[in-house]
Amino acid sequence: MDAQATTKPAVLILLGPPGAGKGTQARMLEQRFGLIQLSTGDLLRAAVAAGTPAGLAAKAVMEAGGLVSDEIVLAILKDRMAQPDVKAGVILDGFPRTAGQAAALDGLLAEAGQGVTAAISLEVDDAAMIARVAGRFTCADCGEGYHDEFKLPVEAGTCDKCGGTAFKRRADDTAETARARLEAYHAQTAPLIAHYRGLGVLETVDAMDSIAAVASELGSIVTRVSA
Ligand SMILES: [Zn+2]
Repeated sequence: MDAQATTKPAVLILLGPPGAGKGTQARMLEQRFGLIQLSTGDLLRAAVAAGTPAGLAAKAVMEAGGLVSDEIVLAILKDRMAQPDVKAGVILDGFPRTAGQAAALDGLLAEAGQGVTAAISLEVDDAAMIARVAGRFTCADCGEGYHDEFKLPVEAGTCDKCGGTAFKRRADDTAETARARLEAYHAQTAPLIAHYRGLGVLETVDAMDSIAAVASELGSIVTRVSA
């Protein structure tokens, strides 16, 4: 039986909060498996630039200051997934964002006789994530990164790299903003997690591990679900 010839491109959805390493991991999956990461913003820009029917529809909505409908986004996604460079599959980034969009995506894929191959959730420890973000600061001169807990300058108050003595902190690198970002992420993602768990395609990865360990785990999942 020639299973390879009929294998459809994998459709992967990568979920993870800011700071979970989603971008890094998606790039590594692209390189290792020939997958293509599709972000909603890039898709829209490319379709508008290419002047496809769906792209023109999106352009009209955006020029009128409106939000591009799920229907248009799906039409653009469908066009993009039919391009010849999409052989191994795609990693969707930023879509779907709601259970409604997830159901619409299922409908689109069902037309081609498939479904979402896997929705992979990068799981983080919220308290540890907040501690990571909240303690960050940088050298005002050279930009070297430091952390109150994990990486202080060897000589207190002096940059290891350039000897500078001025440091700065981003106003939004506080525990409160980090917590708020995570809460918003969980609130937005919970319905998606439930949706894909219900379909039996949810995979979870401990994103607190090292970049290499997370990449290895993701690689195993992609290999398994693409088989
Ligand atoms: Zn410095």
